[in-house]
Amino acid sequence: RREFVVDASSTEHAEEIVASIKDVPHVKVLRVSDRTFDLHRGGKIGMQCRMPLTDQSDLAMAYTPGVGRICKAIAEDPQQVFSLTIKSNTVAIITDGSAVLGLGNLGPEAALPVMEGKAMLFKEFAGIDAFPICLDTQDTEEIIATVKHIAPVFGGVNLEDISAPRCFEIEKRLREELEIPVFHDDQHGTAIVTLAALFNALRLVKRELEAVKIVINGAGAAGVAIANLILHSGARSIIMCDSKGILSRQRTDLNPQKQFFAVDQEGTLADAVQGADVFIGVSVPGVLTPEMVRTMNEGAIIFAMANPVPEIQPELVPDEVAVMATGRSDYPNQINNVLAFPGIFRGALDCRARKITTNMYVQAASAIASLVSVQDLDREFIIPSVFDKRVSSVVSAAVQRAAREDGVARR
Ligand code: NAP
Ligand code: MG
Repeated sequence: RREFVVDASSTEHAEEIVASIKDVPHVKVLRVSDRTFDLHRGGKIGMQCRMPLTDQSDLAMAYTPGVGRICKAIAEDPQQVFSLTIKSNTVAIITDGSAVLGLGNLGPEAALPVMEGKAMLFKEFAGIDAFPICLDTQDTEEIIATVKHIAPVFGGVNLEDISAPRCFEIEKRLREELEIPVFHDDQHGTAIVTLAALFNALRLVKRELEAVKIVINGAGAAGVAIANLILHSGARSIIMCDSKGILSRQRTDLNPQKQFFAVDQEGTLADAVQGADVFIGVSVPGVLTPEMVRTMNEGAIIFAMANPVPEIQPELVPDEVAVMATGRSDYPNQINNVLAFPGIFRGALDCRARKITTNMYVQAASAIASLVSVQDLDREFIIPSVFDKRVSSVVSAAVQRAAREDGVARR
């Protein structure tokens, strides 16, 4: 009797293999397992002590009575909490489970594997200890109050997978009411990396941001943040669409964030993209057709970032398009938030920034874009790889520079 291990590339593939083996004489399927599930058992992260605890003397320093003197020092001078505790390198990853990945409102327990994964990225890419906190409430005021109550422990707050439009209010209020950096990655992480990619795509086609006509499809967390950041960076012509078409002044169903971008034009996405230079999709799969792309200007730039299936499959994009990017790792030009948030927090924590400013976003985007050299810049290489080791340190340096310019750095 001999045992074989057969690897499958997907759940469907595994089912096919199992079905086909069932019919083979003298062959039995002993066990079917899923490597991704196996890796998740017990969770993906853990805690480690940073000092030894082997004898009475260690114990007396780490805990009572020694720690009492540390407590008193912090009580006398609260700023000491930054140097004498975990605070200066610890970030809270806060979610209410209302917009988990692209999967929807799955609740706080189901959001935990994503937040654990996010914590891994913080650690691996920026050496930051981030802690997943999944809240059992989706009430705006309760979320704000809870985050404020737990803030003493943390040097920064990363809001994650909280659905629009509540995420806008929650972030705005926490930024105003806390003296540590608050950053909603689904908004600003996306906007920073999109701006970086756009800087380089425009460099490639030799166009200026001020001069191009931009269509943003999707006016949720990502779409609104992208629109705000590219407007701040100099864009003059932006048309946004949501599930009901162009955000036009005639519409009466727009929330304040959408209203801000309302234009005189009415119509559908097909109307919006006619004569446009740039399409940025943060919406749903398959809504941009090759026919629509053909009505765009020559040398068009397309960022189809709906995940995991983009607004248009790269294979369907006509050759005349100058640059095509997606959110996926299996195509060129992956627009991935991992390029931004680790370095943003590294920089903000290291200079003890009180706030994260729009200037930091722009400088971070320029820093990411700058890692693609003039020689390397190509339609299939407008953005550095997420595994480019330089990324988080150049972003961190840019963020610290911006923090000092803006007077929000505490050191
Ligand atoms: P969200 O807050 O739920 O917003 C989704 C937006 O898409 C909403 O404004 C929605 O319209 C709009 N929409 C839905 N169907 C549409 C259609 N047929 N045509 C046009 N717009 C439509 O989600 P989000 O967090 O912004 O993310 C949006 C998408 O971008 C997701 O697929 C996400 O995975 C992807 N994303 C990718 C990256 C990346 O690659 N780096 C980063 C962030 C997000 P209504 O407002 O009318 O409901
Ligand atoms: Mg997210």
